[in-house]
Amino acid sequence: MEAIFLNPVFKHNIWGGTGLREKYGYEVEGDDIGECWGIAAHQNGDCEVKNGTYAGMHLSQLWREHPEMFGKSGEYTANHVFPLLIKIIDAKSDLSIQVHPDDTYAAEHENGSLGKTECWYILDCPEDACLVIGHNAGSREELESMIREGRWNEFIRTVPVKKGDFIQINPGTVHAIKGGIMLLETQQNSDITYRVYDYDRLSNGKPRQLHVQQSIDVIAVPAEDSEKCVSHTDGMETNKLNELYSCKYYNVYRLSVDGKAEIPEQPGYLLATVVNGSGTLNGVPVEKGDHFILPCGYGDICLEGSMQLICSAEGTDGKDQADR
Ligand code: ZN
Repeated sequence: MEAIFLNPVFKHNIWGGTGLREKYGYEVEGDDIGECWGIAAHQNGDCEVKNGTYAGMHLSQLWREHPEMFGKSGEYTANHVFPLLIKIIDAKSDLSIQVHPDDTYAAEHENGSLGKTECWYILDCPEDACLVIGHNAGSREELESMIREGRWNEFIRTVPVKKGDFIQINPGTVHAIKGGIMLLETQQNSDITYRVYDYDRLSNGKPRQLHVQQSIDVIAVPAEDSEKCVSHTDGMETNKLNELYSCKYYNVYRLSVDGKAEIPEQPGYLLATVVNGSGTLNGVPVEKGDHFILPCGYGDICLEGSMQLICSAEGTDGKDQADR
């Protein structure tokens, strides 16, 4: 079994910059590069396999035509989309304040789409960085009046973060990435975002669409404690898959390789992004910015070099459904 390396898809955004080219070496033009979709099988971005047996195939096609690589039946992959989407986001300026629906709301209001649970691993940020996570409204009435009256300073809650922090964003959580932050996002394969507030910015002379009613419908009140949202990763063991988070959609791991990491065969397929450094994967050279999938049955994993990877596996949701 070979590792499946993917060619990322890039997105240009009003808040994007040049970091994905300058810091990650991706060959992409422009000074508004906001997102690198590293592992994606979405209609708005479907990565191609870079080389090997499946070169040129889109990930969505691989999922449908080679379900065994993902431990699924053909019937399952014909009826379910690839569950996860991995992005690197480079925010030169602030992203809009937004919220995502859960599966139930999205199914009902967004044509059967999945909701969106996501999480962030901070790759780089300024010394005094913060993120918007949650809000300060105590009740649903207060939430609605703060939003409708535009009392943003009262409404928005910011939380300090540093490089290496991990943040889980459940559906219903108000959130925004602030300018200067680069992060890796692991998320459900969905593109449903409700924009609450966009700092009154203009894009091509017009404000971007807001989704005020949908936001008010789905925002959780009160917000979860800010201490519960951010976890620090200092002091984690090297050469080992350290679990950062697990929920029904995904398990996310950090792996810092220093010398040699021997990871036993995994129960399912594994997604990985090299976020720093370089080395080898079972003898194949890998470097910062590479995204790959280790299919089911890949066997034991041996990584050598000096590098850091963020890996993920699908959560129990996909496994339960596949067993039925
Ligand atoms: Zn989001």
